[in-house]
Amino acid sequence: MRIAIIGAGPGGLYTAALVKRLRPACEIDVWEANAPDETFGFGVVFSEGALGGIEAADPRLFARLAAACEQWSRIDVHHRGRIVRNGGYRFSAIGRRVLLSMLRTRCTELGVTIRYGTRAPEAALLAGTYDLVVAADGVNSSTREAHREEFGTEGGERGSRYLWLGTDRTFTALTFAVADTEFGSMHAHAYPYAPGLSTFIAEVDDHVWEAAGFTGRGAGTPGGGRADADRIAGFFVDVLEGHRLRTNKSRWGRFAVVRNRRWSHGTVALLGDSAHTTHFSIGSGTRLAMEDGLALALAVDEHGAVPEALIAYEAERRPDTESMQRTARISQEWFGELDRYTDLGLEAFNAHLITRSGRLTQDDLPSWSPDRVELIRDRFARADSRLRGTAAR
Ligand SMILES: Cc1cc2nc3c(=O)[nH]c(=O)nc-3n(C[C@H](O)[C@H](O)[C@H](O)COP(=O)(O)OP(=O)(O)OC[C@H]3O[C@@H](n4cnc5c(N)ncnc54)[C@H](O)[C@@H]3O)c2cc1C
Repeated sequence: MRIAIIGAGPGGLYTAALVKRLRPACEIDVWEANAPDETFGFGVVFSEGALGGIEAADPRLFARLAAACEQWSRIDVHHRGRIVRNGGYRFSAIGRRVLLSMLRTRCTELGVTIRYGTRAPEAALLAGTYDLVVAADGVNSSTREAHREEFGTEGGERGSRYLWLGTDRTFTALTFAVADTEFGSMHAHAYPYAPGLSTFIAEVDDHVWEAAGFTGRGAGTPGGGRADADRIAGFFVDVLEGHRLRTNKSRWGRFAVVRNRRWSHGTVALLGDSAHTTHFSIGSGTRLAMEDGLALALAVDEHGAVPEALIAYEAERRPDTESMQRTARISQEWFGELDRYTDLGLEAFNAHLITRSGRLTQDDLPSWSPDRVELIRDRFARADSRLRGTAAR
């Protein structure tokens, strides 16, 4: 089978590596518009469930990821100079650049061809010479946009503005912080992802953004977003303990909701953010993109024929992702109405935030069931044993 993958983000690379592990004879070509280390953002969070699936599918990759992840067990809420610490969680996070580099290495070890700095040919063109085309081309997927009607694409930009930043202040928990400013309240989500490095995402309502005069001018260029990052650091000076904020292609954006009534059209499949997005306040988009890749690899291996594989892939992934999208929507709406809660006492504010008004609990965040993890482990172990003695993988 010949497979073309558009986009070398976490979804595209993980799909390539896992299909190659299960079906070494598959020919897989990946196109990536950017250069290898040219990417946006800072660290991304994984829940425990996500890592369980990765461990079962590719223990070698898991060992490398686990060694590079920062781990913590608390959610801290900062509000008007006071902090509540909530324990009993299990989170891991890794730098997006490190994650992509590990996935790239794994693909190279397994014999996947990746063309960096090259936009992929149109999916319709690729479909003429490849059995399967995977559109892992992110939230702004041009593949999806060219066939919105066929995919039944819905969504649009929604909610407040955000700026994805980093800092060398070492947070020790998933941290939510509210800053009362002369322009109105702003809030931030922060977490550690490497020694001495943390992600810091600032979120600001439109009216506060305009009153504060954030311009976003020059954002997206080297050094862009710098002036706004410095101002935000000033508003959150207590939480940041005086540390600066860093930029990396940081530009003000709004969360884009993406949903599709169908995830495939002919032999072209959407995967990861091109198929569905979840608000970053529940930190799941990377995990969902990788889980899509795992499900698609299993479906291709099991069914061989592409149409059946695509039906199985969507049937497996749609319930989980729709459930996560519902949870993410509740979370995003809660943060959008934050001003309703900021005058509550610290304990009440914390309780509302942690449970998102009683509707969001840890149990709402699905992950692979233990049975499914065993099945994944078994399928990849069988693929490994087929290969034993033929090549070191
Ligand atoms: C502020 C913020 C914070 C986030 N925090 C988290 C978090 O903590 N945890 C988490 O799990 N997720 C998080 N996410 C979400 C996460 O970044 C995405 O869900 C994830 O990157 C999706 O992976 P993907 O592979 O589908 O797409 P992407 O990572 O977007 O990769 C798509 C790739 O395709 C390439 N591409 C696009 N078009 C073409 C083309 N025509 N030809 C060749 N290449 C092309 C792009 O250059 C890109 O490299 C966050 C997102 C935001 C905005």
